Amino acid sequence: MNDVALNPVGWLAAAEALQADTVALRRAIHAEPELGLETPKTLAKVKAALAGLPLEWKQGHSTTGAIAVLRGAKPGRTVLLRGDMDALPMPEDTGLPFRSKVQGAMHACGHDTHTAMLASAARAMCARRDSLAGTVLFMFQPGEEGWHGAKKMIEDGLLEDPAPEAAFALHIFPNAPAGLFTGRAGTLLASADEIHIDVRGKGGHASMPHHAIDPIPVACEIVTALQVFVTRRIDVFDPVVVTFGKIEAGSTDNVIPESALLLGTVRSVSEESRKAIHGGIERVASNIARAHGCEAEVHIEQGFPVTVCDARAAKHAASTVAALFGPDSWREMHAPVMGAEDFSYVLQRVPGAMVFLRVCPEGQAWQSACPCHSNKMVLNEAVLARGVAAHCAIAERFLAGGFGG
Ligand SMILES: [Zn+2]
Ligand SMILES: [Zn+2]
Repeated sequence: MNDVALNPVGWLAAAEALQADTVALRRAIHAEPELGLETPKTLAKVKAALAGLPLEWKQGHSTTGAIAVLRGAKPGRTVLLRGDMDALPMPEDTGLPFRSKVQGAMHACGHDTHTAMLASAARAMCARRDSLAGTVLFMFQPGEEGWHGAKKMIEDGLLEDPAPEAAFALHIFPNAPAGLFTGRAGTLLASADEIHIDVRGKGGHASMPHHAIDPIPVACEIVTALQVFVTRRIDVFDPVVVTFGKIEAGSTDNVIPESALLLGTVRSVSEESRKAIHGGIERVASNIARAHGCEAEVHIEQGFPVTVCDARAAKHAASTVAALFGPDSWREMHAPVMGAEDFSYVLQRVPGAMVFLRVCPEGQAWQSACPCHSNKMVLNEAVLARGVAAHCAIAERFLAGGFGG
């Protein structure tokens, strides 16, 4: 094991020394959130914070995402650390002095903290460049909230030359005890795809349904039949979730409408069950519609794939965190979470792990803390130093000894 990486005073002290800058950068990003694949102001803030450091910057053409490359004094392995930069299209209602100044945009998923922690990790690691053997890629990525930003950066060739041999990311969560890290080997997060089913019948008078083809009961039957499909045709140990969040049909009580629209989400924890449920939705919907003389047009919009953590990488992260902050600072998750992340695209190419950092606000019971994506989400900034230190130690230890380092 590498002495420098596992010296808790070393990386934590470096992170604590940068804490004021981490918080300042986080607040500046928080006050000026940007959406989607274009986050130029956020990237400019990051670049200003890292000005003058021995970093090479690489950018693609499809997004404002950037990779800052730190080449250590000696050659060696290559490791990637990722932070996402985009906010959510929603109003902020936290009352914080540095709350969003942009109408309808808020950093409610903590990506402001991810970016700030990654920037400080880059600074801390630059200061130790002379003792580093290998290369660290700091991936500042926009477009995580449904925009496939990571995929676009990969397609732009930003994960090549040098290609990382390991990849790690942190994601904060406010509704758990502050300072705790959690993660797991294997599936961490689900895939998330959008289901659109347009059931087409024939409009008519509500009193004479036999002269029409009513799409509403057919749509309802499809909703119910898909729940049956889930329990009968999907392995209970490889679960999926199908939820229809929107049904749209009709205009008044005495008219049978021409069509009914179902809008839903499907989550899976493996690519096998994802494929099975996609096929099932198509088959069940179109055949039920046909049975009643309707037609169903099924479209499944592919969202993020399943986020799968490499077992060696998850162990590497867990043991590094435990060495830095004590064994109680790491908790293994017994099950995946059904949310989704586009870091999954990186993990499809590079063995690695995403780790959750718990940041419950001070003085609040974690059970009642507002979760990510809440308009009232606030967090404990003091914990960010831990995230910075964890980034540095995880990366440096990988450079020093690989996953077994
Ligand atoms: Zn989010
Ligand atoms: Zn997020």
